[in-house]
Amino acid sequence: FQTLADMCIRQAEVLPDACAFIFDDGRKTFRQLDLASNQVGRGLIEAGIKAGSRVAIIGQDTVAHYEVLFGCAKVKAVLVNLNWRLSSREILYILNDSEAEVLFVAQAFFPLIESLVSQLASVRMIVALKGAHPNWPDYAEWKTAQPDILPVFDYSADDAAVQIYTSGTTGQPKGVQLANYGFFRLMQGMRAGGDPWMSLNAADTVLLSLPQFHIGGLWWAVQAYAAGAAGVIVDTFVGWRVLQLIEQHRITKVAMVPSMIQLVLEEPSCAETDLSSVKALLYGGSPISAPLMRRAMETFACDFFQIYGMTETGNMAVCLRPADHCPEGSPRMKSAGRPLPGVEVKIVDGHGRLLPAMRSGEICIKSPANMLGYWKNESATAQTLNSGWVRTGDVGYMDEDGYIYVCDRIKDMIIYAGENLFPAEIEAVLSEHEAVAEVAVIGIPDPKWGEIVKAFVVPRQPGALEQRELIDFARSRMADFKVPKSITFVDALPRNPSGKVLKRLLRAPFWQDQD
Ligand code: AMP
Ligand code: MG
Repeated sequence: FQTLADMCIRQAEVLPDACAFIFDDGRKTFRQLDLASNQVGRGLIEAGIKAGSRVAIIGQDTVAHYEVLFGCAKVKAVLVNLNWRLSSREILYILNDSEAEVLFVAQAFFPLIESLVSQLASVRMIVALKGAHPNWPDYAEWKTAQPDILPVFDYSADDAAVQIYTSGTTGQPKGVQLANYGFFRLMQGMRAGGDPWMSLNAADTVLLSLPQFHIGGLWWAVQAYAAGAAGVIVDTFVGWRVLQLIEQHRITKVAMVPSMIQLVLEEPSCAETDLSSVKALLYGGSPISAPLMRRAMETFACDFFQIYGMTETGNMAVCLRPADHCPEGSPRMKSAGRPLPGVEVKIVDGHGRLLPAMRSGEICIKSPANMLGYWKNESATAQTLNSGWVRTGDVGYMDEDGYIYVCDRIKDMIIYAGENLFPAEIEAVLSEHEAVAEVAVIGIPDPKWGEIVKAFVVPRQPGALEQRELIDFARSRMADFKVPKSITFVDALPRNPSGKVLKRLLRAPFWQDQD
């Protein structure tokens, strides 16, 4: 396939009655998805949507999200799937920034959108997904009133398909425009070269537990659809529920971020759950601690694939394959893997000069899935995308064999007396302590050293751990200047929906008067 529209149309021809999605108690076939998305497309055209128009959706994942995704694709509109965990201010910003003309809203978000309606600059029509609303048409009625005939016929791989706002761990969210080719070109190149990668196929049942508003979730769902696999839709991630779904549907392939793996492993029902159907587990999106990885490998006796990439690279660019996952732990386990076939990775210094193996600098990625650019933000695009290369904003290095090691975000780097410290490295050491459940390390201002190291720790049991003990533990395992000067014990770490710790929130109280 070249485009999402092609994929939707073709799968309905090849596998008309095969199951595309499983949700709550329902199922939908590839043919049903094709017809429903034709109707959505027709409805969008009637609402004035044209090629390149923006259409937004807010709500926890449902099968309607896929009907809308493909409906947009079929009229060449660009889907903006809103991260529903954002604040109302951020949601308003994204709706106006994207110039969304039609908005699909799930019932849980009626009050939120009602409170914003008067400030929406471009939205002309709001459709209520599930649940009746006095002013907005009901999705099911609106859809079924339309003919189920394909609305448009000329699709191009280069057309923008989706606009995903970056998680915004720094500054204002930016709209990453991803083209249709971003979902297919990399995988097609790999297949043509004989690389089976995860061998996704029509016999698979995959768990769609990553939200569709994040590139990881959307990309994974599209890969499953392209393979003819059935996708089990998870609306909210709850550990015991996910375990139940795996057992009930004999799920074969799973994608999770490390914080989800942790939730699943900590679930009391985990030990009794039959996980034998799972053949492969894909993970990534943030660093994973060694103890968590060990437990995951003990629990899921399956193939593990770590991926590294970002929204701007259309998801995965680098992959650590099963053969490099060694249960005894090996240096390779600290790596995010090697660039996938068709992807180039380089490490550069602050002036953009290429660095040799083992020297750390900024990771840059040239992938056939790289973004088209940020929406209406030429300066940010110019800073990030240059001659096909995306600057990731991550610090890392490459070894002699081409394995990439991700150290940290450049912005999270701590500069202690001129020395660069990587929080991720310190976090990895602290999380080796058996009483530590989660940890985040930041730099806080210090008049003498510039910045000093501070840790936030979620203990396994409240009060199970003393600051002194953990500092001594750290001191025996790393250079003195890396050891946290202070530790705050907390109940939970602030995270964004993709599982990344929001360090800006941890940092804010300390840096308030500084800049
Ligand atoms: P996003 O902007 O939400 O797409 O997140 C992309 C960022 O997540 C990357 O720039 C990395 O900082 C981080 N990330 C993604 N995958 C990995 C991985 N396998 N290991 C460490 N960090 C990762
Ligand atoms: Mg980002």
